[in-house]
Amino acid sequence: MTTTQKTLKTCKRGHEYYKSSDCPTCPTCEQERKPETGFLSLLSAPARRALENNGITSLQQLSNVSEKDILKFHGMGPASLPKLRAALEAEGLSFKN
Ligand SMILES: [Zn+2]
Repeated sequence: MTTTQKTLKTCKRGHEYYKSSDCPTCPTCEQERKPETGFLSLLSAPARRALENNGITSLQQLSNVSEKDILKFHGMGPASLPKLRAALEAEGLSFKN
């Protein structure tokens, strides 16, 4: 017997959602997921995703990429560069030349 019945779940932040599996991930939280600290929190959502999609989640990783290459990331705009540069400099790092 197969059932495709979905169960109503409530995440710890109070969002109600239906899941057919027992996957604990709340779609609302997932969508709102934002880093609260760190350089990623300085960026707009598309720019942040651009970095994350390219595996860059730390300043250390960011310093291995050149400004030119960063701008090639889909979603990354020139407006984000000064923020990234400042965040790197605060840690004594810089973009790759
Ligand atoms: Zn939630």
